[in-house]
Order: sequence, then structure tokens, then C-alpha cells
Amino acid sequence: MILIDGKKAAAELRQELKHEVTDLKAKYNKVPGLTVILIGDLTPSQIYVRNKEKSANEVGLKSEVIKYPDSVEEKTVLEKIEELNKDETVSGILVQLPLPKHIDKQKVIETILPSKDVDGFHPMNVGNLSSGYESSVPCTPLGCYLLIKKVEPNLNGKKAVIVGRSNLNGKPMTQLLLKENCTVTITHSKTKDLKAECLEADIIVAAVGIPELVKGDWVKKDTIVIDVGINKTDNGIVGDVDFDEVSKKAKALTPVPGGVGPMTIACLLKNTIECFKRSQI
Ligand code: NAP
Repeated sequence: MILIDGKKAAAELRQELKHEVTDLKAKYNKVPGLTVILIGDLTPSQIYVRNKEKSANEVGLKSEVIKYPDSVEEKTVLEKIEELNKDETVSGILVQLPLPKHIDKQKVIETILPSKDVDGFHPMNVGNLSSGYESSVPCTPLGCYLLIKKVEPNLNGKKAVIVGRSNLNGKPMTQLLLKENCTVTITHSKTKDLKAECLEADIIVAAVGIPELVKGDWVKKDTIVIDVGINKTDNGIVGDVDFDEVSKKAKALTPVPGGVGPMTIACLLKNTIECFKRSQI
């Protein structure tokens, strides 16, 4: 079984991006800039943002974090986004989710210019992705896609089963694999026989949020299994895939932690660079 090392893949991607930033600096005499807005003092969000800033600095991006207290008014945040939209030194804007209840998430997402939407959540980017046009792609599914392609560069005709239909993971994952000519089945909580669906798959991407849902006898030999789940349990962090069972059957599997997670941040940097490049045309 191939253990897909997300840490190593992310380090390789960051190295490639670092070279790209050096080339862009030589060509344009400026570097891509990422601005993250962090609202409130939720510990996981603070850790994510710190890691994003550290990685952005590592590859040579100009990075900035704007912090607001939980009590910040929605209007203040929207005005700041408008200001960043106009700022030519800012290539990408990310507002760390979740947001306090009094701030309308959709309004925030839709205020970010689609051309600076490094999370790929703006309806314009969602539409472009599903139409097969150029767009920012949400970072986690993009990371999954790159890991799958490392194991199997030619996905033509493969049968993929996506477990979970969230806007963040399952739906964009479906679009990326459709573009690669996979036959894609998207499953969810009302799917009648999830095990039977998974048994048909050459590729399974599990993005559910249920610890160890996908079992060894749900997976046929030679299947590539990507585990997006991050679930806190009494036994520590586990994924949506039963690692011990599935690792005995699958062709390739991502561990949790150390699989998809590290690729998510590397893909955010990649998206920032892509936004910069498109803005220079
Ligand atoms: P979400 O928005 O809660 O969506 C979960 C999806 O799973 C829904 O579509 C839901 O179906 C489906 N589902 C629930 N129970 C199911 C069942 N028994 N059988 C089949 N499908 C079922 O979750 P998410 O935001 O996509 O996140 C999923 C997991 O990924 C979480 O553990 C999260 O922490 C993790 N995550 C990891 C990263 C990373 O960087 N590695 C990034 C983001 C998220 P319905 O639509 O029918 O309700």
C-alpha cells in the first residue's frame, strides 16, 4: 500500500512555489500578497491563521493578518474588504471561517472580488469551476486532487465516489474529478447503500466528519482513498476512514494527520500566486 505523504507533497509544492515567487519578483519587481482577516479569538482559527502566515512567508509572499475582536461590526469588515479589493499590493483575500453569528458569511464571501477570492467560495468562482472555466478552487479539494494525481496521473474513465456533498469539499471535488474524465458519484447522508457505492470506486474521497466511517470491507483492492476528515476523539485525531482496516485493502491512502491537511495551506499559497498572475495579464 502506498502511504500518501501529504507533509512531503506539501513541502515539495511550497518549494516549487518559492521558485515561482522568485521568478515573478524578477519579472514584475513585486511579489504576490495574501491578506487574512481573523475575527475573534477561537483557538483553532488562530492556529490556522498563524500556520498560513508562516507558510506564506516561507515561500516569499507578502503576507498580512488583520485582526478584529468578536464584537466587530459587519460593516467594518465589509468596508475593509472593499479597501483590500482596491489595493493593488493584495492579490488574495481570505476571511477565516467560522464567523461570529452577527456577521453574514455569504455577504462577506460575496464582497471579496472573485479575482482575489483565494478560497474559491465566491459564487462566480463556484460557477466557473462547474462550467469548466478558469477559477480559484477551494484549497482542500485542490490538495486532494493533487495528491490523487501523484498516485495516478491518468484518471480517464476512473470511477470516483465522493462521500459528503459540502460546498467546501464534496462538490468542488466532484467538479475537479469530472474535469479529469472520471465517472463521479456524489454521496451524502441520505444515500441508500454507501458501502455498495464505495465498493464500485477506483477513487474514494471521504469528507464527512464521522470518525472512521469508511471501513475495510467498503473498499476494493487497488482503490485510492483520500481521507479529508479531521475528528477529535478520545483516541486523538482520526479521519473519516478506518485507517487500520483500509490500509490493508487500498492501493493508496492518506493518513490523518499528515495527509490532506498540510496540502490545504500549500494550495492556499498556490491560489494566491495564481490570482497574482491573472492580475498581471
Ligand atoms: P460538512 O459541511 O458537515 O458536510 C458533511 C457531508 O457529509 C454532508 O454532505 C453530509 O450529508 C455528509 N454526511 C453526513 N453523514 C453521512 C453519512 N452517514 N453518510 C454519508 N454522508 C454523510 O463537512 P465538511 O466541511 O465537508 O468537512 C468534512 C470533514 O472534513 C470534517 O471532518 C472536517 O473537519 C474535515 N475538513 C478537513 C480539512 C482539511 O484541511 N483536511 C478541511 C476542511 C474540512 P448531507 O449533505 O446529506 O447532510
